[in-house]
Amino acid sequence: MIIKKEQIILDSIYIDVLYKKIKNLYIVINPLLGKVRISAPKKMSSKTVRTFAISRLEWIKKHQTKFLQQKQEPPLKYLSNEKHYFKGKHYTLNIINHKSPSKVEIINENQINLYLRNRSSLKKREKAITDWHRKQLKAMIPDIIEKWQRIIGVKVRGWGVKQMKTRWGTCNIKTRRIWLNLELIKKPEYCLEYIVVHEMLHLLERKHNSKYRAYMNKYMPQWKIHEKELNRLKL
Ligand SMILES: [Zn+2]
Repeated sequence: MIIKKEQIILDSIYIDVLYKKIKNLYIVINPLLGKVRISAPKKMSSKTVRTFAISRLEWIKKHQTKFLQQKQEPPLKYLSNEKHYFKGKHYTLNIINHKSPSKVEIINENQINLYLRNRSSLKKREKAITDWHRKQLKAMIPDIIEKWQRIIGVKVRGWGVKQMKTRWGTCNIKTRRIWLNLELIKKPEYCLEYIVVHEMLHLLERKHNSKYRAYMNKYMPQWKIHEKELNRLKL
């Protein structure tokens, strides 16, 4: 629950400050958007928060530089010869006109065909690919959940896929339901697996604290490599 919101600007870096019913001050940088956010106990003074932010400025700058250096792919137009990522590999898209309903097919190691009726709009082309992505991602998830339920010993009650701007996944601890970002279909399969494990471990520990990290290190010691790959390229 956010009680109050403020913004601090340090060296042209915008930092959102959220005052909440919490005990400790902490800072996070969103790996997808590069936004800096501080969560502070509700009664803490703005001055204390600012001093804290200044003390972390070098760290913030280091992360922001890393974020700005991330390669950004241009926005997709869903046209022929465009580069499209699928399960961590890139393919060239071919648009093919036909008379039946639209469909998508991987035809060889580096080409994807998108079959559409004549003069399809950008929206229709995008929808055809997105629907295909959703179907492909949904087909991969049950086996991964099944595998990790056995390893970790927790039960997931439900899962879903949706488009998310700021997170790779979320976990609703109450309903024991996990949500996965549709964009994960563009990343290597181990990245999807890492996010599933990340969310499932929240069923053991809700926060990203030392207990949580201990679980992560135990079940997926190589998780940092996966995380790096996940955030290397903005697609
Ligand atoms: Zn988490």
